[in-house]
Amino acid sequence: MSDCIFCHIVTRTIPATLVYEDDLVIAFDDINPQAPTHTLVIPRKHVTSIAELEDLDVGLLGRLMLAGNKISKLKGIADSGYRFVINTGANGGQTVSHLHLHVLGGRHMAWPPG
Ligand code: 5GP
Ligand code: ZN
Repeated sequence: MSDCIFCHIVTRTIPATLVYEDDLVIAFDDINPQAPTHTLVIPRKHVTSIAELEDLDVGLLGRLMLAGNKISKLKGIADSGYRFVINTGANGGQTVSHLHLHVLGGRHMAWPPG
């Protein structure tokens, strides 16, 4: 997707602080962090949101989550705890239309979310 900012991060045409990458996903720090650790994990392929996923993508979703676990270790928040968030659509608070998993940690997370 030529107009997708996260696709540009995948192709390195816009910069980001990369945290992790493998054959299916890449992860980079959020430009506007909401916690001491705030990293985004995205599929390399353009998927607009979790609503677009199909049965064949179940492995991709699992890999996003497992990458999130790896990031929790890399960032030193595996033991203190962390939160995964996937915002979907307008009411879900999604602002970038390329599926992304937020990995948040380094402070206590409130519940319910805003
Ligand atoms: P959403 O609101 O869609 O769930 O999350 C989008 C996230 O992407 C936001 O937390 C926002 O700060 C982050 N973001 C938006 N543009 C950029 C960018 O160009 N670089 C990085 N690293 N993060 C971005
Ligand atoms: Zn994209």
